[in-house]
Amino acid sequence: MYDYVIVGAGLFGAVFARQMCDAGAKCLIIEKRNHIAGNCYTKDVGGVHVHQYGPHIFHTNDDAVWQYVNRFARFSRFSYRPKVNYRGTMYSFPINLTTLYQMWGVTTPQEAKARLESERVAIERPSNLEEWALSQVGRQLYETFVYGYTKKQWGRDPKELPTSIIRRLPIRLTWNDDYFNDAYCGIPIGGYTALFKALLENIPVETEADFLADRERFESIARKIVYTGPLDRLFEYELGANDWRGLQFKHQVISEPDYQGIAAINYTDADVPHTRCVEHKHFDPVERDHTVITHEFPSDWSVGDEMYYPVNNEAGESLQKRYAAMVPKNYLIGGRLATYRYYDMHQVVASALHLAKQQLQSTSDTIPLKRAA
Ligand code: UDP
Repeated sequence: MYDYVIVGAGLFGAVFARQMCDAGAKCLIIEKRNHIAGNCYTKDVGGVHVHQYGPHIFHTNDDAVWQYVNRFARFSRFSYRPKVNYRGTMYSFPINLTTLYQMWGVTTPQEAKARLESERVAIERPSNLEEWALSQVGRQLYETFVYGYTKKQWGRDPKELPTSIIRRLPIRLTWNDDYFNDAYCGIPIGGYTALFKALLENIPVETEADFLADRERFESIARKIVYTGPLDRLFEYELGANDWRGLQFKHQVISEPDYQGIAAINYTDADVPHTRCVEHKHFDPVERDHTVITHEFPSDWSVGDEMYYPVNNEAGESLQKRYAAMVPKNYLIGGRLATYRYYDMHQVVASALHLAKQQLQSTSDTIPLKRAA
């Protein structure tokens, strides 16, 4: 009998399993795919670590989370500074003084502030992504950097999306072009898969095992199930499928050492079908004669497709709540898919550590634990 059968070898499941196993609990991880690491998975293509399911950049302000992940890998000092290509012109991004210089020729924070103020659209209470962006940066910047990219990524008009999606991005009146404001940022040297291997050392993992295809058996061997997959799938879409976005990746090996000179270029014109082109070498630099690039194409999602982004609109949130109320008592849920949250990796680590701590406090009398987390 296992104390926990953990469904999914992604970040939430792996961190939770590590914590519980270190404390003496007996865990089994089952994973539908043929590999560990969930969407963080990186594949070694001739020495280049390819982020197979989209780029993952670890960033956090949380000392404990940063120290935790550094136990399992060394991190490079990578910081994310993508560029935007809009109709053939390159811009610095996220919006900063270089961007505003390129757009308007302003050279100081004061000039930039004055110009931005004259561009902003007066909207007292912005209620959707478009209104919020217009109220912050005005129509020209909105159309150059936000409208097309957002429409492609979410398959909806930005008027139909919540402001929270765009509020993730900084707008700066300095020359700082770092995507993240966090104190710590990096990429595990050797790729994420190596980090997961270290995280899962000595923990049994069954890959290519579909929990839902053999649910009764897995339930019969576990005191508790930790489920990290989507709830609509868990309940066989009984109340309907939730709103998700899909994503297609076109990976290409190119016979030249450097293709685009940077890790990511965002294509913000609505008429270009991909949202970005990623060159993996620049995340974790290696000297090779070849390079690997990936074009990302967001797609409509339908039952059976991989889920990438939860569409956190009102309908999606309300369906998620109804499913969450149906989760059996011996189930614990966590991670981006099960909680239907647009989480970053550091938030997933923090929430897995939190759940493990709670479990250790509440179950120490029923599971023979070596020590508290
Ligand atoms: N976004 C945009 N233009 C860009 C990049 C991002 O308008 O060039 C918007 C878009 O709505 C996106 C949101 O900002 O959904 C958040 O972007 P982020 O890079 O955080 O998304 P991630 O790929 O990390 O999930």
